[in-house]
Amino acid sequence: MILALGLLGMTLQAQITDPKATEVWEPVPRKVNPGMNGGAPSDAISLFNGGDLNEWKSRKDGSAAAWKVDNGYMEVVAGAGDIVTHKKFEDFQLHLEWSAPTEIVGEGQGRGNSGVFLQEKYEIQILDSYESRTYSNGQAASLYKQSIPLVNATVAPGEWNVYDIIYKAPRFNADGVKVSHGYVTVIHNGIVVQNHQMILGTTEYIGMPKNPAHGPGALILQDHGNPVRYRNIWIREF
Ligand code: MG
Repeated sequence: MILALGLLGMTLQAQITDPKATEVWEPVPRKVNPGMNGGAPSDAISLFNGGDLNEWKSRKDGSAAAWKVDNGYMEVVAGAGDIVTHKKFEDFQLHLEWSAPTEIVGEGQGRGNSGVFLQEKYEIQILDSYESRTYSNGQAASLYKQSIPLVNATVAPGEWNVYDIIYKAPRFNADGVKVSHGYVTVIHNGIVVQNHQMILGTTEYIGMPKNPAHGPGALILQDHGNPVRYRNIWIREF
């Protein structure tokens, strides 16, 4: 079979002499206007542009998201709980910017902790890792407790960190068996820190990753009790 395919390939190769024979003209990629200076591209869904929290709700009870909005950013209100998008997503490109509190409180996991959960299950850690040690697979831009970031690109508290996250969701068959893995790439302040990283399952605080079957899921931003700020959040689905 392999020999036969090889011979066929050689035969085809021998027959193609016209460069136009290998040009592909359809389909035509649609045009998208790229956002300038980190702004949302024309086909992105804006999830927060500094105005209101209408795209978000309380994870606890579905009521209005009760985080603070001020001066173009939103800020975690300790005790208000996680917030979650109304919309659900599958494969996507996500852009978000975050800033750790300038008032330094705590150390390690207690300093500027938040997080973005992809499809409500897979946390990319948000943490003040500028000058604060914690376990490496729990620092900023880790796939929490699964994958250490390649480097630490965190900027100082009060400055803005940029995450660009490219996510391919896992797939499950009708029996609930995972048939393809999820993958995530994270670019932190322009630097690749997770490179097409395979996701082993849910990012658990205690215990091993789990693999419950799921379809499209929302994004969650975590209330870990620290006043982490967010701005300019947009998403593009594939
Ligand atoms: Mg966290």
